[in-house]
Amino acid sequence: AMDAPTAKAELGRATWKFLHTVAARFPEKPTPDERKTLETFFHLFGRLYPCGECAKHFRELMKQYPPQTSSRNAAAGWLCFAHNLVNQRLKKPEFDCNKIGDFYDCGCGEEGKDGKGKG
Ligand code: FAD
Repeated sequence: AMDAPTAKAELGRATWKFLHTVAARFPEKPTPDERKTLETFFHLFGRLYPCGECAKHFRELMKQYPPQTSSRNAAAGWLCFAHNLVNQRLKKPEFDCNKIGDFYDCGCGEEGKDGKGKG
């Protein structure tokens, strides 16, 4: 098995990739229901993330800086900001959130580009 620090880092990389990809596909103009869904998702994520210390820090971060869900840009920008706070705490380099652009591509093509899917 991997040593603990390696496993924790692997989980972190996979999770950030997933979270940023979710934000990149969030609707540009979300409905109230879609906004609520994302807020609930982050809240539950903060309860369920398997690294307990990480989850605790993330819950504290969300208390200070509540997730932004008014648009895709707002959600992706908030998550980039939040990830940078974690980077800072772990003494990792800051990511330039202006360059996030198409960095997170789900590989699902045009399907559901409005974030709602096509069935
Ligand atoms: P990661 O931080 O995993 O980032 C992966 C890639 O994402 C980077 O290579 C870069 O291309 C890109 N990226 C970097 N910053 C951003 C950004 N701001 N926005 C968009 N993309 C970006 N580990 C701990 O040891 N202690 C903790 O308390 C802890 N808390 C965590 C909390 C959460 C919610 C998550 C998801 C992970 C946490 N981790 C924690 C894991 C940690 O954040 C890293 O994932 C892990 O250390 C691996 O780091 P990495 O250098 O490979 O890059």
